[in-house]
Amino acid sequence: MPIAEARAWVELDAGALRANYDTIRRSVVKGTAIIPMVKADGYGLGLELAVRTLEPLEPWGFGVATVREGEAVRRLGVTRPVLLITPLPMGEVQLAARCRLTVGISSMDALDAWVGAADRLGGEALDFHVEVDTGMGRTGLDWREVGDWGPAVMSRLGPGVRWSGCFTHFHSSDLPDERPGMAQWERFQQTLVQLPVPATDLMVHASNSAAILRWPRFGADAVRPGIFLYGGHPAPGVEGVPAPVGVAAVRSRLLLVRQKLPDSTVGYAATYTARSPERWGTVGIGYADGIRRAVGNVASVLVRGRRVPVIGRVSMDSLTVSLQDVPDAKVGDVVTLIGEAGGQRITVDEFASWVGTISNEILTGLGDRLPRVKRDG
Ligand SMILES: *Cc1c(COP(=O)(O)O)cnc(C)c1O
Repeated sequence: MPIAEARAWVELDAGALRANYDTIRRSVVKGTAIIPMVKADGYGLGLELAVRTLEPLEPWGFGVATVREGEAVRRLGVTRPVLLITPLPMGEVQLAARCRLTVGISSMDALDAWVGAADRLGGEALDFHVEVDTGMGRTGLDWREVGDWGPAVMSRLGPGVRWSGCFTHFHSSDLPDERPGMAQWERFQQTLVQLPVPATDLMVHASNSAAILRWPRFGADAVRPGIFLYGGHPAPGVEGVPAPVGVAAVRSRLLLVRQKLPDSTVGYAATYTARSPERWGTVGIGYADGIRRAVGNVASVLVRGRRVPVIGRVSMDSLTVSLQDVPDAKVGDVVTLIGEAGGQRITVDEFASWVGTISNEILTGLGDRLPRVKRDG
């Protein structure tokens, strides 16, 4: 859809995505494999746009959170490894095998199912990486129990499968206190030396965006960057962590511009009242598009290079702004909710801070109704 016709849209700056990838690449030791995470539809920006932009940069592979996402990456023609970082659901083992995913293993049941699927499928061996739980708690095999699960994994190896990697995940790499990260790394190292195979035979990886940029010495064989690539700060408020270049812009248009009388109210629950004659603009985007309801009376947006406030509650399909400071604003003007316009900028992190969340949640919450448009400049 051409932007000229859209009511609201998400713009993806492919050059910025490449620039952020380059920052990650320069932060790790040369030769470290990079596994861009493209889960959740490329952090909400569009799986195809993310994969097509990153593929020419020759990453080692891509990281996904569901088997369906892995299938979608394969449908785009990707032949590189595709790593599934969540436990393999029993109902999707066959599909994962047909897509030749590299699955993360968190249980012996899943490994048994993977070996079974590989034997049925035949052909080249299917890969798996064992995930070690060093404190994240949601997935992985417990680091203290490697003496049990190490031999159990070993006993299941056969011609159908290849144990090709081992990884863990940091739970606090975005927080100022570095001690939890150090403790997790220590646990991971203790696990690696107790494995029944030499860790040098495995691809070892641990770091997400924040860890890559803060603790380059934990780069190991591979890294798994996500949010930084897509323009979200991986550790807001932590000193010394570089900010990414903005990748996504969320834009809409003024659908109506009106002069309102004093005492006019706006939105559900009439939480805003005009004190004097005011100019209001109605913008064609709402909470169904991912513009969270909680930004009502809190957020600002950009109109004609000015920051103007959102007034009243955000509706499902629209929100209202005060145009007091933009007397020349008119119907059809572009309204920028996230991104740059006229030399001003609202970062996704600033937007996230208005509702007490992180940029990841804002980006992945952008609605399907917004077309994703690639800009390359
Ligand atoms: C999402 C995820 C990542 C990427 O994390 P970011 O903080 O977005 O860089 C890496 N590894 C795993 C296991 C993940 O779930």
